[in-house]
Amino acid sequence: MKFRDLVVFFEKVEATPKRLEMTAILAELFQKLDEKEKNAIDEVIYLCQGQLLPSFKNIEFGISEKLIHKAIMAAAGVSEKEVKKELRIFGDYGEVAQHLCKEHAHSLSISEVYECLKEIALFSGDGSVSKKVETLSKLLQDISSLEAKYTVRIILGKMRLGIGDPTVLDGLSLAYAADKSLRLKLERAYNLCFDLGLVAKMLFSKGPKYIEEFEVIVGCPVRMALAARLSSTEEIIEKIGVCAVEAKYDGFRCQVHKRGNHVQIFSRNLENTTHMFPEIIEGALEQIKIKDVIFEGEALAYNPKTGECFSFQTTVQRKRKYDIDKMKESFPLKLFIFDLLYAGKDLTPYPYEQRREVLKGIIKPGKVLEVSPSVKVKTAEELSDIFEEALAEGREGIVAKRLDGEYKAGGRNFNWIKLKRSYSGSLQDTIDCVIVGYFYGKGLRSSFGIGSVLVCVYDGKNNRYRTIAKLGSGLSEDELRRMKKRLNGIQVPEKPKQVDSLIVPDVWVGPKFVIEVQADEITKSPVHTCGKISEDYPGFALRFPRSVSFIRDDKNAEDATSEEEIIQMFMMQGRRK
Ligand code: AMP
Repeated sequence: MKFRDLVVFFEKVEATPKRLEMTAILAELFQKLDEKEKNAIDEVIYLCQGQLLPSFKNIEFGISEKLIHKAIMAAAGVSEKEVKKELRIFGDYGEVAQHLCKEHAHSLSISEVYECLKEIALFSGDGSVSKKVETLSKLLQDISSLEAKYTVRIILGKMRLGIGDPTVLDGLSLAYAADKSLRLKLERAYNLCFDLGLVAKMLFSKGPKYIEEFEVIVGCPVRMALAARLSSTEEIIEKIGVCAVEAKYDGFRCQVHKRGNHVQIFSRNLENTTHMFPEIIEGALEQIKIKDVIFEGEALAYNPKTGECFSFQTTVQRKRKYDIDKMKESFPLKLFIFDLLYAGKDLTPYPYEQRREVLKGIIKPGKVLEVSPSVKVKTAEELSDIFEEALAEGREGIVAKRLDGEYKAGGRNFNWIKLKRSYSGSLQDTIDCVIVGYFYGKGLRSSFGIGSVLVCVYDGKNNRYRTIAKLGSGLSEDELRRMKKRLNGIQVPEKPKQVDSLIVPDVWVGPKFVIEVQADEITKSPVHTCGKISEDYPGFALRFPRSVSFIRDDKNAEDATSEEEIIQMFMMQGRRK
């Protein structure tokens, strides 16, 4: 298939807000690939999602808008002024390229364009900037104007097709089996490797049986298991009976992959954060007794003089790209390991107790890695005692774990149940919201040009973001300024198509950044779309929302609290009252 045919599919997808239609368009695309192309379907999948490789492979184009500007000038043979004029009209470099670059008769295959884009991304070192611009402008001269539009958008990371992972999974099942019968199996495989391209390639080259038996791979991050919530120790025991309890550490989650001497670390949203935590690499090399392994834990900074662990606010300073050695000295990390996913074989289907047994056997005592203590409890009273102890030690709460629970990749379920400290008059748990826009603000705050943000929760089934609050308090002046800068970087000209909102902010942004919000309670509200069915069945809003974190770079928009959880929390709140 030619790249020029692929972008016609992109255009069709872009034109529809309906997920079912998007799925059908993708399925048609996958079916149209010939046998040879199906072996390279991973490239098609990545391009559909505006990428070259899965995000954890950390490949970036390193091309700013300024350089795109230059490349378009060179390809179209126009002046800087002309490009600027078009940009004022379209507000999008993709459309500027489409408008200015002329039609060309060359017809490049998908693989040819993919390889060229890869070449652009991989140029590094001296002179790489001009090589990138030259190669791109040459590519723009070899392709049609519609191809130019999407090529530029891919490079800028602004594809805007709104194709979520679930849509790709449905599309693959539809293309291969003509129905959705493979969807769950494909999703399971995807949860185990976080690489949609790989899953698609395996489906078409090795068949559904291989997908069904898919196992974790050291080096491919596993989508993390998440905890459900209940509001009392009684409810927990009623739900899962005898269970194991661990402290809930308030740091950041690390999934560590070790293959021989090669160690990689992935964050909660599966970004590759290896370079940030050299002591965890050292810890894994010194303290793990076996060759190949995947384990997970919560990293906390501690005071090297007293050994005491710091709060999340201090710990989170370790998530930075620079001055790592200095930070390592001032705020060294300890990793409390709570699960083992691979130890020579895939352990995710094994019961918790068995995984923990193996875990204890493969770790040597040392400075960095420590297995999180776990206590077996039978009654709500015992559980309450441990909960109180955990709070007294400064922990956030506890996580109760079902003894026979498997490691359920990518899912929030009752194999793990969290119970957190309750804030008086407040909802027990914080809510992870996605920012979809901001308001300039009035009065005092108007001087920052941002007074509040519009936030949503996520409906993963339908890939929709629904509003739940307008959030103005909790952020310092400095944070507001930084927030505005980052939001401007992902500004979009109109409401993103995955967002349902009755409110129109001054500036829309793509659903990307997550912020942690505390509120007094969840109330019914006619102005928000979260949980809204009709005029008679209004949606939900957060009462007195305040942010308790800055942008949580360790969480993706899809990791935000779900609409379903809000409904459950609303019901739990009623029960407590
Ligand atoms: P939350 O982010 O509020 O949904 O809580 C779940 C998070 O708690 C997990 O993603 C982990 O990062 C963290 N956590 C801290 N301690 C533990 C533990 N002992 N077991 C599992 N998760 C833990």
